Amino acid sequence: MKAVLLTSPSALEAKPLKIASVGDPHPKDDEVLVKIEACGVCRSNLHMIEGDWMERGIPAKLPIIPGHEIVGRVVEIGNRVSHFRKGDRVGLQPLWSTCGRCSYCWTGKEELCQLKEITGETVDGGYAEYVIGKEDHLYLVPEAIPAVEAAPLFCPGITAYHAIKKAGDIMGKRVAIFGIGGVGHMALQFARIAGATTIAISRNPEHLRVAKDLGADECINGNDKSSLEKLKKEQAIDCGIVFAPSSAVAQLAMSLVKAGGKVIVGVQVELGSFSFVEEKVVLGTVIGPREEMKEVLQLAAEGKIKPICQGFSLEDAPEALMKLKKGEIVMRAVLVV
Ligand SMILES: [Zn+2]
Ligand SMILES: [Zn+2]
Repeated sequence: MKAVLLTSPSALEAKPLKIASVGDPHPKDDEVLVKIEACGVCRSNLHMIEGDWMERGIPAKLPIIPGHEIVGRVVEIGNRVSHFRKGDRVGLQPLWSTCGRCSYCWTGKEELCQLKEITGETVDGGYAEYVIGKEDHLYLVPEAIPAVEAAPLFCPGITAYHAIKKAGDIMGKRVAIFGIGGVGHMALQFARIAGATTIAISRNPEHLRVAKDLGADECINGNDKSSLEKLKKEQAIDCGIVFAPSSAVAQLAMSLVKAGGKVIVGVQVELGSFSFVEEKVVLGTVIGPREEMKEVLQLAAEGKIKPICQGFSLEDAPEALMKLKKGEIVMRAVLVV
């Protein structure tokens, strides 16, 4: 099959990715082979490809096929697979497998399982024509959702949904989304469904325009100091959700959220000093468990949420990543295979 291979992590400018022909994968007993329709291009992929996560042991193998938001069709099933058939349309999220028997797995926090495998980081992912999926971690994808819109549900979708769940009951609360990109624009949609008043904060005018189209109640440019100061003075933000990959933005969120409020962080950042007297709550958030993934697919099938995407061919993966690096992608790049 044709695949995009990472052989040696380095800056994108040094061309670490190669389009290669590799052997077709074969499913084990509890696995299926999926012919890929589309795979989203995530900032996490960029971090791994550029070697930012080597210290964390990511990628866990080389060469590796990146990509972890995948939609396709089952073309072959393992001997013990009983819940999927050839022809089923399915999706894979970053959580490729979990141990199923640790306390995290047993309490609905399986994204924290210490024995989890991550699609495209510890096992081969979706920048290819085929991918192997574990039966227990596959989801049926409604035919009505186009592939290019379905793929991002499996990372930005679940990631944003899990973050909003962490916010708790936000009905009638004021929720600020810091960073309106691939995940942020989904978080905005989920926050609206949950009944929050939404405030989109971004330095990118194009991203603010998208936020406005998606129904954000307020859109504030991150460079507009007086508007930000006003939010702080009025103690106007109950909850801040940070998906902008910037320590400065995370620190801004920490300062703007009102005393006793929540700051939910889904990116690697430095949070700076922390004033305990304001009793703010800081929560990390990462992808999400299977039950929540099902709920995301349900909401998408009902037309209540919709990722905004830009399609690229598999061969154009390096170009899509470069555009992402330069901030030129409007919401989400998706490779259409
Ligand atoms: Zn991702
Ligand atoms: Zn586990």
